[in-house]
Amino acid sequence: MAEPTPETRSLGALQPGDVAVAGSRLILTRWVAGGLVVGLTAAVVRLLRLPLPEGPLYVTGSVILIYNAILTWLARRVDHAPPEIHLRRVRRFVMLQVALDWIAMSVFLHLTGGITSPAIPMFVIHMLMVTILLPGQSSYIYVALGTLALGSIGILEQTGVLSHHAVIPALPPDLHRDPIYILAQVAFFATAAFATVHLATLVMARLRERDRQLEALLQTAQAVSSTLSLSDVWNKLARSAARALSCSKASIRVLDETGERIPMVAACGLSEAYQNKGEVVISKSPLDREALSGKPVIVRHAPADPRIQFPQEVAAEGIGSILVVPIPGRLGPLGVLRVYAEQADRFGPDDIEFVLAVARQGAVAMENAMAHDSLQRADRARAQFVRTVTHELRAPLGGAQSLLRVMLRGMTGDLGPQQRDILSRVSTRLDSLMDLINDLLALAASKTVEFQDVPSRQTLQPVLRKAVDLHTQEANEKQIRLRLHMPPESLEVLAAAEGLAQVFGNLVGNAVKYTPNSGRVDVTLTRQASCALIEVADTGMGIPAGDLPHLWEEFFRATNARHSNIPGTGLGLSIVKRLVETFGGSVRVTSVEGRGTTFAVSLPLLDEA
Ligand code: ADP
Repeated sequence: MAEPTPETRSLGALQPGDVAVAGSRLILTRWVAGGLVVGLTAAVVRLLRLPLPEGPLYVTGSVILIYNAILTWLARRVDHAPPEIHLRRVRRFVMLQVALDWIAMSVFLHLTGGITSPAIPMFVIHMLMVTILLPGQSSYIYVALGTLALGSIGILEQTGVLSHHAVIPALPPDLHRDPIYILAQVAFFATAAFATVHLATLVMARLRERDRQLEALLQTAQAVSSTLSLSDVWNKLARSAARALSCSKASIRVLDETGERIPMVAACGLSEAYQNKGEVVISKSPLDREALSGKPVIVRHAPADPRIQFPQEVAAEGIGSILVVPIPGRLGPLGVLRVYAEQADRFGPDDIEFVLAVARQGAVAMENAMAHDSLQRADRARAQFVRTVTHELRAPLGGAQSLLRVMLRGMTGDLGPQQRDILSRVSTRLDSLMDLINDLLALAASKTVEFQDVPSRQTLQPVLRKAVDLHTQEANEKQIRLRLHMPPESLEVLAAAEGLAQVFGNLVGNAVKYTPNSGRVDVTLTRQASCALIEVADTGMGIPAGDLPHLWEEFFRATNARHSNIPGTGLGLSIVKRLVETFGGSVRVTSVEGRGTTFAVSLPLLDEA
């Protein structure tokens, strides 16, 4: 999108919508005006008995209403014009309306007494309306045309070319012939009209500027809060600040950890050469020092300002003036926001306030992004730590387990019943410990992107077959009927192989583990529109309803599982949920305590290529 130029900005940046609104307001007001001309003429003639030229005034009022009807019809056609010619047409249409009004107003003035007409202020009111609806230089032209019309009517009536309608009997009959009176009326009219239009133009320009600033602030807030990535926040902030001030260049500089340097982290509209012009050291940059102390700085003539560290580069970049404001963090300044303009002396106090508001928005978003960043780093560091520790624990534990198994198999000599019992119990404890270590490892891996395999095309059938095979022996030992139901067509998803195996290994393992002897476990794969649905249903102990909402939390175990002697860590399901969501799927559970549980995993299917 093209940046608005500073010129359009000083004229109040008229938008297509504004012109359209102006057109429809004028039409609406004209219905009232036309009606009033007819209605008031009748009232004034009947009630006040003033000698108004009744017939011509009725005609004038009716003509106003008729041309307004035609304009209303035309407005509908303009509305349906294609966008590229819409604005041009709307502008011309509004100009046509103002021109017609100017003629109607002149006729009305003439009919109500010309230079002595009590209705002269109505002309000024119409001018005010045009100024409010269409700010810019056209209103001044309209003042000139209005004055011309009044002056012409005055002269034409004075010279007798036009007949004069004396509508107020109390006025001297020759007043309209008095050149001094005519001159005074025209001069006061011109002054009043010019002053009114000028003041209204100033007020409207300011109001429109405020409007634009509010919109820019809102856009900034939306843009910078739409991301948690710090570099995105910087880039969006630079762009928003430049756009908000109708400039094309802006940059963000952020204090480094030493607090001595302030490197540029984002730029908008600046050349590569300028961005790489050299390091800005705070001790050598009075400009940034001042801004960082909380005071916004305006550099009015940038290339000649002694506070500028790289004047040649500034001149080569075509920078005339710079506005520097601090980006205020909660605990101190985070950096500075600079906006550059081509013209010298371009920024004023209003701009400072506004850019400060933009910088404050940016500061909040930057701090959020930084907090998010450090949380993620802490999470990664924790996962890395868990991974290292558990790795170190696994090897000696595995060794101890093998040695125990050798002893329990009697390969180191016969064991007495008591020795066998103690060693079996130690072995069971070591198994639980190994489970915990494995779960912790899997949890650390599921949280750390670097530890995860790259997702690839996976066919679900073999993955489910493997998960079921893995637990068949345990199911057989408990006389559990473990069945797998799958469609013949192969269903494929995008997932990491190890992660997928972990998800179904966990769910099938839990189903067998929490189902008492002689129960049933059914693993079913079906296609559901564009997803694969995998249900693992058992007839086991179930989960108390009150525990269901906490099931996916790390280390959570349901009360009935905790009270039974079934070992567990409470980590498996949190890993399952995290992994399934990484693959773009979802997992649900339904359970009735004492009756059984069903876990349903839904994964998006890959399109058959
Ligand atoms: P673990 O099984 O190691 O305790 P999980 O995270 O896999 O940890 O499961 C969390 C809890 O959810 C379990 O402790 C158990 O209370 C409950 N649970 C999971 N699967 C089942 C199931 N199929 N039947 C009954 N309860 C289950």
